[in-house]
Amino acid sequence: MLSRPAAVQDQTWDPMDKLTQFGDMPADDFRRYGYEVVDWLANYFERIEEFPVLSQVRPDDVKNALPASAPEQGEPFGEVLRDVDRVILPAVTHWNHPNFHGLFSTSTSSVGVFAEMFAAAFDMKAMLWRTAPASTELEDVVLDWLRQMTGLPDVFEGIIYDTASVSTMHAIAAARERADPESRKLGLLGRGEAPRMRVYLSEHVHSSIDKSVITLGLGIQSLRRIETNERFEMIPEKLAEAIDDDIEAGILPICAIPTIGTTSTTSIDPVAAVADICEKYGIWMHVDAAYAGSAAIVPELQPLFAGWERADSIVMNPHKWLFTPFDLSVLYCRDLDDLKKAFSLVPEYLKTDDAERVKNGMDYGIQLGRRFRSLKLWFVMRYFGRSGLIARIREHCRLARTFAARVEESPNWEVAAPVPFALVCFRAKAGDIDAANALNEEIMRIVNSSGKAYISHTKLNGRITLRLSVGSVHVEERHIEKVWQLLETAYEQAAK
Ligand SMILES: *Cc1c(COP(=O)(O)O)cnc(C)c1O
Repeated sequence: MLSRPAAVQDQTWDPMDKLTQFGDMPADDFRRYGYEVVDWLANYFERIEEFPVLSQVRPDDVKNALPASAPEQGEPFGEVLRDVDRVILPAVTHWNHPNFHGLFSTSTSSVGVFAEMFAAAFDMKAMLWRTAPASTELEDVVLDWLRQMTGLPDVFEGIIYDTASVSTMHAIAAARERADPESRKLGLLGRGEAPRMRVYLSEHVHSSIDKSVITLGLGIQSLRRIETNERFEMIPEKLAEAIDDDIEAGILPICAIPTIGTTSTTSIDPVAAVADICEKYGIWMHVDAAYAGSAAIVPELQPLFAGWERADSIVMNPHKWLFTPFDLSVLYCRDLDDLKKAFSLVPEYLKTDDAERVKNGMDYGIQLGRRFRSLKLWFVMRYFGRSGLIARIREHCRLARTFAARVEESPNWEVAAPVPFALVCFRAKAGDIDAANALNEEIMRIVNSSGKAYISHTKLNGRITLRLSVGSVHVEERHIEKVWQLLETAYEQAAK
């Protein structure tokens, strides 16, 4: 429990009191509770390792702990805070825990939390420049800082969305707009001459792309998955063949999506070769670097991104590996006007006389109001500095390589894919595939139910493969040592 110091007493809160019947919490109370909340959060970060990484609650525990209806009368806010301890905290899976190694290990930083407080307090909706000049202009500034840090050329301009899923959906919409401008007005249905469209990707892409084509009405059948090699990288010759094939069949290729840092293994599609093909056929190239994009700030890793500077659009997620609280995804476009053509639509009540001079966020996507997300990235960049961010990501990659070396040295384990960034795919060895799959599932179950660490898995060529992602701002060498010991112990237990 991170409960409140005993000294803190709730002031009498009487909802029927004339003073409190209208308006917000009195400023003095806000100040008092505010200090208390900050203390709580400081304790939380300090003591995070005491909590089980994966929440140990069962389904419905949270619902059962809460009343079925909202309170009729307001309650003292201290009561609410007590329930954060009692009901919410036990049901938190601690993404900020340094031994959260599942999926991708992502974490916030303290300054990111501060930024969220300001953003909530200002509560601005960045639809028009004039409704949110700070948000609109800071977004341009931090996205240009990030662009410079990642080594992208200055033709790229960015826009912030919530998640990579949404960034990619917008990129494909822009690609569709370019390939078939009629579709914006006429839609895709009931047009005799409407072309069938195709989006190309590897077998290892993220499911967000499937959701994008569902949403855009292209349908899952518009996806064509290109074979990968033994390193899980798209084979460019197969891509070229697929495009020829489709053109022959009267299908309109609109977009190819190479990934730098696939979700399963962080493999890297040959982006430069895909760019050659996209240029030859005049197809939009969208690079999915949702996870790995942050690593492009590390000079010695930049060669892994070769070719992405030729993209039409690129997505990267500072909320994944740049210590920025969820959510903040960036879509960089070679020509942001492509996005504007797909989405701009200005009703009379939103027309302004400065529209030619300023950027209005609402013109670049489906949202009208947009959160003040750039503030947290700005806080993070200023607090850590470019060199501080580089040092942290570089260290995560080093820790991942250290872990991979441990795995390789051990007779019981093997590394299952190259480790270009900070994710290690590995598995325990056993007789045949079925025995190995059962063994690895059991090891994962033992580790995860211990509450001491969290790892996840993927399937590579039919084989259950464990994934260890290193990316928390809190992670140190001892945490990697700890998870290795846990795995060794689990192996002994499961192999018996
Ligand atoms: C995480 C991830 C996504 C989806 O990210 P969201 O921001 O959660 O939508 C997409 N692509 C890749 C490669 C990812 O790693």
